[in-house]
Amino acid sequence: MIKLEKYPKPEVLVANEVTWTEEFIRLVAGDTSVPKAARYRYRHPDIKSTLRSECSDKCIFCESKISHVFPGETDHIIPLSRKQEDVVKWENLGYVCKECNRNKSNYHDVNLPLVNPFVDDPDEHLLFFGPIILAKPSNNRGQITVDLLKLSRSALVERKKERIDQVKLLIDRIGCFPDGEAQDFLKNQVLEEAGGSKEYSATISAYLNAVFT
Ligand SMILES: [Zn+2]
Repeated sequence: MIKLEKYPKPEVLVANEVTWTEEFIRLVAGDTSVPKAARYRYRHPDIKSTLRSECSDKCIFCESKISHVFPGETDHIIPLSRKQEDVVKWENLGYVCKECNRNKSNYHDVNLPLVNPFVDDPDEHLLFFGPIILAKPSNNRGQITVDLLKLSRSALVERKKERIDQVKLLIDRIGCFPDGEAQDFLKNQVLEEAGGSKEYSATISAYLNAVFT
């Protein structure tokens, strides 16, 4: 998980947020079930594509690249079941992978919220140790985030090991070149692997810090 910034609210939401919210609240309070069209306004293509872009097509929680595996899901950071008035609130929407969405389910505790990468600095709560993510000592928010989302689940750990091995190979190649442009090019390639748009960048960044300090 890395710190993220919300993109500007999409035009379709600027134009319709109030109407869509009022409509949803009215329908939820009614006697009949909410029609799909009204329930899933937040899945509008313009909203989804902006959410996908602001996190570089990665799950906002586990940093897995999403679209090449399956269409990502639009998540309510505070679950819709807990705060219906935030059904299309821009700050409450994020792009997540299926696994994190399923693990998160309807969890929300005002006294112990999950780490929110748009609001919180994940580095204050989480430790990136090789392919594993741990909570910082005595950090309850970090702990519930790691435990509930299963941020050190085996599939993630395996994929992160592969990423670390790729970076290791690049680092090894640096040593094969004399000082000069070729070596600088490889060094830049290594640094780019820790860039925010790359998969598991927090893990790679922590790995590079451990190797080079
Ligand atoms: Zn995820």
